[in-house]
Amino acid sequence: MSRFSWGRSCSVLACGLALGGCSTVATAKPAIGDGVLKSVYIATQPVVETSQTEPPEPTPFLTRRPPETPASFAFPTPIPSPTSAWRPPPYPVPWALTPDDHFYFARPIPSGEVNWPNPTYRYGSTFFGQETIHTGVDLDATRGTPVLAAGPGEVVWTGYGLYRGVADENDPYGLAVAIRHNFGYEGQTLWTVYAHMASITAWVGQHVETGDELGTVGDTGHTSGAHLHFEVRLGDNRYFDTRSPELWMVPPEGWGVLAGRIMGSSGQLLPEELIQITSLDNGQRWELWTYAKETIHPDDAYGENFVISDLPMGAYKVTVSFSGRGYSTQLYLMPGRTNLVMFKGWDGFVPVTTATPDTSGPPPYP
Ligand SMILES: [Zn+2]
Repeated sequence: MSRFSWGRSCSVLACGLALGGCSTVATAKPAIGDGVLKSVYIATQPVVETSQTEPPEPTPFLTRRPPETPASFAFPTPIPSPTSAWRPPPYPVPWALTPDDHFYFARPIPSGEVNWPNPTYRYGSTFFGQETIHTGVDLDATRGTPVLAAGPGEVVWTGYGLYRGVADENDPYGLAVAIRHNFGYEGQTLWTVYAHMASITAWVGQHVETGDELGTVGDTGHTSGAHLHFEVRLGDNRYFDTRSPELWMVPPEGWGVLAGRIMGSSGQLLPEELIQITSLDNGQRWELWTYAKETIHPDDAYGENFVISDLPMGAYKVTVSFSGRGYSTQLYLMPGRTNLVMFKGWDGFVPVTTATPDTSGPPPYP
């Protein structure tokens, strides 16, 4: 199956409204575990636990080479967004049930609006054969929807020009806000970026708290329609220093996140492989692709090359294709945390030793 068969609509840093390719719409209210999630734990030393005897090869990412001129693209006709997609309220932030979890950020779009990632254009995906890779997620809220600070910190950028750091009305991010958060991760600073806004009410130097309004959703910059492009940056406030926001935005209550490390037989991450996920509870299906290579970083804790958030807790089948043969594994997706699967070439899916939830301690920002 061609990876370009879904008719994605995208720009250099953000994409349009193509939501028709796969479904993330919840159809039934999930049950919430019996007191499993009463308290949280923030890790200071996340550990990647695997059952492998050999570590995977270093991931071949990080080509620090910005295009000289941000690309411009033509877009297909956007496909309308789904009209209903029920979500429970989110867990409080910060939220971490295991030492590996780091759900430090709230959704930057209010509950009741579309505040989950566009499933056809996730972090690390490409489009139309372009060598441009998505460095964030797109939340398809409508024009004028408030854009909210995902966590506390200081506003360090407002306006046009974020990509190069100088005023530029042709900047692909359009009107954008960047926040340097007053907490970090593993000794590194965290930023979040909010792009394509219609208006900005925040100002540089402003201290914001989680949920403070920064402005409104729009379609400025390179985009085919109104939505919020949201990035998480770690270590440096640059296009080249992003991580998947789906590992940082807190899940809805009773829902979880699935990350995967899809590798060849020697442990190298395999780019742009199709992943199929099927709920064994109701048959709902999702499809996504492993990360393309450049400008994308696997998470420091998971080393993943795909992530899908907002999955109701429950039983799932995960299928990948390797050398012309399909491989499947089944898992029970635990709520409120990131669940990890690993595939290693001829070995197929290999066991993952998951971190044990720790219910001690308050949940301060690290
Ligand atoms: Zn985007």
